[in-house]
Amino acid sequence: MKKLGIYVQVPFCQTKCTYCNFHTGVVSTSRFAPYAEAVCSEIRGHKELLKAAGVGLNQDIAGFQTRQDSLLHKDLVDTVYIGGGTPSLLDPIHLQNILDAIRSVFITDLSEVTLEADPETIEGEKAAAWVRAGINRVSFGLQSFVDRELVASGRMHRRADIYMAAPILRQAGISNISFDLIAGLPHQTRESWRQSLDELLGLASEHVSVYMLEVDEGSRLGKELIQGGGRYSAGAVPSEDEMAEFYETGQEVL
Ligand code: SF4
Repeated sequence: MKKLGIYVQVPFCQTKCTYCNFHTGVVSTSRFAPYAEAVCSEIRGHKELLKAAGVGLNQDIAGFQTRQDSLLHKDLVDTVYIGGGTPSLLDPIHLQNILDAIRSVFITDLSEVTLEADPETIEGEKAAAWVRAGINRVSFGLQSFVDRELVASGRMHRRADIYMAAPILRQAGISNISFDLIAGLPHQTRESWRQSLDELLGLASEHVSVYMLEVDEGSRLGKELIQGGGRYSAGAVPSEDEMAEFYETGQEVL
């Protein structure tokens, strides 16, 4: 039986990070429930939707199983990744409904169900509800342990939020935590990068992702880098050589 992973996108954020131009929106929370309901109905109706779009309907090739039949009857869904955006903003009942919709349509044996989360959105009750819904892994967008870098990047959380959130997840029973760091944030220095790496090691996460800062031209920071200005700390973005050095330090330390 083939293994299948499902990715669900939740395109909402509390604010827009200065470097980001992902297709995400800062919208009224009243739009969260209709979005989650629409995702559930697309999951339940995906066979018809694929058919209507003409996806995977190559019936002319002898012996070729239609893709949607394959999805429904042959593949085993073993992982789900709910990413964003900031999907931890959704009410846990919406996440539960999305996972229930997946379980109702696909053959599932979910060994890993990941939720992307920002540290300031973590609460004990929420985390317990995630576990009840079947979420067993959280991917944290930490990016840095240095408040000056977080503020300059437009992130909502601060260093203290990280230290509050991680134990809440552990206590709720989530034993698989992944942390993201970004090398190259504005105001990052060799010393502050090393601080973030050391503090991250202290939290003993199961997985780490290190990204190099990628500034979208259409983002606020991107525009400032091109046009000039001092509002988003474009002048304090490390050079590419510095970023490369930070990355290599990350490889050595981790
Ligand atoms: S939280 Fe992620 S998706 Fe949302 S604005 Fe920031 S970088 Fe972009």
